[in-house]
Amino acid sequence: MKLHEYQSKQIFSKYGIPIPKGRVAATADEAKQIAKELGSRVVIKSQVLVGGRGKAGGIRLAKTPDEAGELAGQILTMEIKGLPVRKVLVDEAANIETEIYLGITNDRAARRPVMMASSAGGVEIEEVARLTPEKIARVHIDPMLGLREYQARDIACGIDLPREHTRLFGQIALGLWQAYVDCDATLAEINPLVITSENQLLAVDGKMLIDDNAQFRQPALFEMRDLDVEAPSEVEARRYGLSFIKLDGNIGCMVNGAGLAMTSMDIIKLFGGSPANFLDIGGGASAEKVAAALRIILADPNVKAILFNIFGGITRGDEVARGILAALHEVKTSVPMVIRLVGTNAEEGRQILAEAHMITAETLVDAAKKAVAVATGAPAAAGG
Ligand code: GDP
Ligand code: MN
Repeated sequence: MKLHEYQSKQIFSKYGIPIPKGRVAATADEAKQIAKELGSRVVIKSQVLVGGRGKAGGIRLAKTPDEAGELAGQILTMEIKGLPVRKVLVDEAANIETEIYLGITNDRAARRPVMMASSAGGVEIEEVARLTPEKIARVHIDPMLGLREYQARDIACGIDLPREHTRLFGQIALGLWQAYVDCDATLAEINPLVITSENQLLAVDGKMLIDDNAQFRQPALFEMRDLDVEAPSEVEARRYGLSFIKLDGNIGCMVNGAGLAMTSMDIIKLFGGSPANFLDIGGGASAEKVAAALRIILADPNVKAILFNIFGGITRGDEVARGILAALHEVKTSVPMVIRLVGTNAEEGRQILAEAHMITAETLVDAAKKAVAVATGAPAAAGG
């Protein structure tokens, strides 16, 4: 789960990281009011869960409350990388001298978290890593010991931070580490951490990703989840415990098992098709779950064909078939469907599905070819 900038910065602030004064607003009037209260120049910042808002025009400086209201009004009608802006953060503007990058993420290869910093802040770290990798300082953190003070000093040295800031930088690094651990984050990032012309350190931007597996012990954080900005189909899928990711293609996929789902998508592509989604209905999926999955797939107007690839193990073919039938009673559709059903109770499943006029296939290759053909409007060769 991604947190918004304002949410991440509020968390950072609790861990002693200095952030600009400011508040979030949903209307131009509110933004104007906040600017008035702050009584200074302000930055109006779109709250959308993508990077590069600055370049997209989603971050603007305002000198007066009137201007703040006006710019907020404009930004609140924008879409940034396809996401509507519903809130803006109105922050006291900082006089920026230097921009630094500071972040923590998991280094899977090293099997521990890594803290990274760079004097080329404000730029996405992936860019820095690609163009000027020597500008990134790194330390790996022993999860049992946590970030040590000397490591924070090492990082400060590594980016040639002026000595006078070393102490506060250390506190910020330790605060960021503690926030990362306490929140079960997979990323905690300040980009940029700035040195102001008043010689203060300030976290101007903030980003946190929270491990979805930690939902059960982070109820307060997951309360903050912004459903507004996630694809509605993904929200719905989560309700049923389905792993679903919406894609741009036109062949809907319903598969049991993440690996098999990935394979199915690859094979669809191999034969010139394009998957409309990733969907793993999981092991032992009930008819109800299958029905929900089918509704979600069919809600996408791009879907021109559906490929079912069910390998029965714990999942039973008859149970899946019943779910498909139940969903088809609810949602009337003329979208052609290709099914490959093997394994536990496959035969029973096929019998149940006989009335559903589905195109059957023996192998995944066969199924994918048929799905690609019907998605492009070729006549459906029924039977398998
Ligand atoms: P991002 O583009 O989504 O990463 O948003 P950021 O919050 O990082 O802002 C992008 C850039 O806008 C920063 O790197 C700064 O250069 C600039 N910026 C953000 N806040 C301020 C501010 O308070 N004052 C000034 N002068 N520039 C700012
Ligand atoms: Mn940024």
